Amino acid sequence: MQTLPNPTKTPTTEPTFDTTIKRRKTRPVKVGSVTIGGGYPVVVQSMINEDTLDIDGSVAGIRRLHEIGCEIVRVTVPSMAHAKALAEIKQKLHATYQPVPLVADVHHNGMKIALEVAKHVDKVRINPGLYVFEKPKADRSEYTDSEFAEIGAKIRETLEPLVISLRDQGKALRIGVNHGSLAERMLFTYGDTPEGMVESALEFIKICESLDFRNIVLSLKASRAPVMVAAYRLMVHRMDELGMDYPLHLGVTEAGDGEYGRIKSTAGLAPLLTDGIGDTIRVSLTEAPEKEIPVCYSILQALGLRKTMVEYVACPSCGRTLFNLEEVLHKVREATKHLTGLDIAVMGCIVNGPGEMADADYGYVGKQPGYISLYRGREEIKKVPEDRGVAELIDLIKSDDRWVEP
Ligand code: SF4
Repeated sequence: MQTLPNPTKTPTTEPTFDTTIKRRKTRPVKVGSVTIGGGYPVVVQSMINEDTLDIDGSVAGIRRLHEIGCEIVRVTVPSMAHAKALAEIKQKLHATYQPVPLVADVHHNGMKIALEVAKHVDKVRINPGLYVFEKPKADRSEYTDSEFAEIGAKIRETLEPLVISLRDQGKALRIGVNHGSLAERMLFTYGDTPEGMVESALEFIKICESLDFRNIVLSLKASRAPVMVAAYRLMVHRMDELGMDYPLHLGVTEAGDGEYGRIKSTAGLAPLLTDGIGDTIRVSLTEAPEKEIPVCYSILQALGLRKTMVEYVACPSCGRTLFNLEEVLHKVREATKHLTGLDIAVMGCIVNGPGEMADADYGYVGKQPGYISLYRGREEIKKVPEDRGVAELIDLIKSDDRWVEP
């Protein structure tokens, strides 16, 4: 039976609720011209899906993403030929566009590939579960301590040259753990759990630190939002215990496509970002990579972490609504969407509208049939016929010197 809360037990101190996100303090890690962590705005990144051997296609893909706001672009390097192709990609980007912060994704047993590509990109991403890849043995029932240590030594041996190369070039490393590809010995020791993911990252971090290398970004992705949320929270907890301050790259892997893919990514990212956890994000959609960037910005804008567009506040409309709200919101948005930084409210009626505009800079509020009122902050400025509403709103913004031509 469910027990009811004891009404005599009232808290003695009132909790305080802050509405600003306090970001976790992390060390700054430079990736080309962009800095991840260190209090810098949360960085947006994505990945091209062109084959890296297709030089022109890759250059075009990187440029397309960068032009719409992707600040770091990732490419995959499954072979040595792909790693070498990055030299040409980088050179063509410089010659035909501009330098773009690039990350190369290295997979199975990728030490030699990583060493080559580290010469051409700003950051290398390795997956601890694959970097030293041992084929799982079907008959294995345990890992002895000495077997565990033996593989640990092999990891150190293969990671060292890469770490030294990145350290000496002032470049960065992402230790990118994936729930779906944990190393077998981690699975045996810690299970298929956030603990296994965190320990896997820590093993690599400790090798880096022993070589005095700390340009590290961490990710602990999973395709289930609650698993990734738990893994990142545990990672932060362990880092706090160990005095580590590495920035975090957040993402839900294989989120899928369409509306659900976007909701699933948001469900994973938002709780962490709200807690101040996360220095760079990627939304992984099964769609063209360009589609990921607006989702990243919307999540960051909704949480007040970055302001890259106008913030529209609009009521859902109800029986009191005095005009076609959907249509008017669309018209207002079309006319003002380039005024980045402003908050504009479109509210259906004067009864609740002005009070619920959430401190918008300007308000467009239904006044009486056929008329709307324009507000500057909480102050009602003028009543105008509805068909003049958008034009008068623009005039009001212009009179405040806050208008820019689209
Ligand atoms: S602001 Fe007015 S019209 Fe809009 S939902 Fe509230 S009561 Fe209804």
